[in-house]
Amino acid sequence: MAKLILRPGKEKSLLRRHPWIFEGSVDHLEGRARPGDTVDIVAGAGRYAGEVLAKGAWSPSSQIRARVWSFDPAESIDDAFFKRRVAAAVARRAALPELRGQDGLRLIHAESDGLPGVIADQYGDTVVVQLTSAGADKWREAIAGALQKATGCARLYDRSDSEVRAREGLEPVTGWLRGEAPEGDILIAENGVRMKVDIVGGHKTGFYLDQRDNRLALRDIAAGRRVLNCFCYTGGFSLQALAGGASQVISVDSSEPALTTARANLALNPQLESARAEWRCANVFEELRRLREAGEGFDLVVLDPPKFAPSASHVERAARAYKDINLGGFKLLKPGGLLATYSCSGGIGVELFQSIVAGAACDAGRDARIVRRLQGAADHPVALAFPEGEYLKGLLVQVD
Ligand code: SAH
Repeated sequence: MAKLILRPGKEKSLLRRHPWIFEGSVDHLEGRARPGDTVDIVAGAGRYAGEVLAKGAWSPSSQIRARVWSFDPAESIDDAFFKRRVAAAVARRAALPELRGQDGLRLIHAESDGLPGVIADQYGDTVVVQLTSAGADKWREAIAGALQKATGCARLYDRSDSEVRAREGLEPVTGWLRGEAPEGDILIAENGVRMKVDIVGGHKTGFYLDQRDNRLALRDIAAGRRVLNCFCYTGGFSLQALAGGASQVISVDSSEPALTTARANLALNPQLESARAEWRCANVFEELRRLREAGEGFDLVVLDPPKFAPSASHVERAARAYKDINLGGFKLLKPGGLLATYSCSGGIGVELFQSIVAGAACDAGRDARIVRRLQGAADHPVALAFPEGEYLKGLLVQVD
């Protein structure tokens, strides 16, 4: 096995069990390794000189040159390793009462579950896997077998077409790894609301499971309110707002296919008052202005935009975009109204996000206070050693 020799002092983050080795931390590679191969990660100089501190996957084209599989140098990285890690991730969720009974569930949340580059989501009896690193890609078959064993699901779809794969030198890969496409639609029931999940053509693995708790929280405060749901995708927040008794829900998204699914989802739930829902295909930035010019007002505005800052280099431009939509949201709120605002950009931390929202309130001339801090659901855990895992953050804010 090849050895990745670290530069002096660069073992520190590893000792804190952070799983990434950046380009600048690598002194040299001893021996040969192809992308995705397992290498020993060895301290260069100082107290730990020559010691193997971890085993990780080599990824020469990525700025993250290696991702740690195991901090135990004696642990073999083989089929049995993936069986153990996958089974542990699945068991972790089964042990959390709040996740019981959910038929849409993230089973593996990458680094935070000790499996860098591996995402797996379960929708009913289908599991969708997304591999985003060279190491994960290499172990596709082992991961597939482990998932099948841990879940008992006979259907497993590979949705490894995320654009982040390019950074790892990987092409998009999609297709059935186990079983085949079901005859009808894939449906889940999220807290009593039926939703169709398009695992082949939808975003990510088909659905934004990370917002489950926040959609439920919205339902609890929606009664009697006029709601504007911006970036509605397939209507997750919209339908929960209707379930909570919202008087009207206007939903905006720029994707016609997403809105088609949203309408179909509403039809799947005859218990909801469909006459209260309106879907608009529009650019949210423009629609917010248009609504303002039309003198519209809302009791509750949801802003759940796509990742404006995919990496640290986009932060400044992203901050302006977040500020712009939050400003638009604040301007539309009736007195006493609520804004549920989110960012899923890894590059925008909780504090920065809060200061952007504060700046938007100030510019809108609104006094506002934080009612609740919002985060990803429990099946999207954040490993303490890996704060980067906390990408989703949100604020529920009330204006005077
Ligand atoms: N809130 C959703 C997830 C939102 S994902 C849920 O709970 O499922 C972000 C959505 O924003 C996507 O559906 C995408 O089509 C949409 N989008 C991206 N840019 C947009 C823009 N400028 N205007 C309107 N919608 C946009």
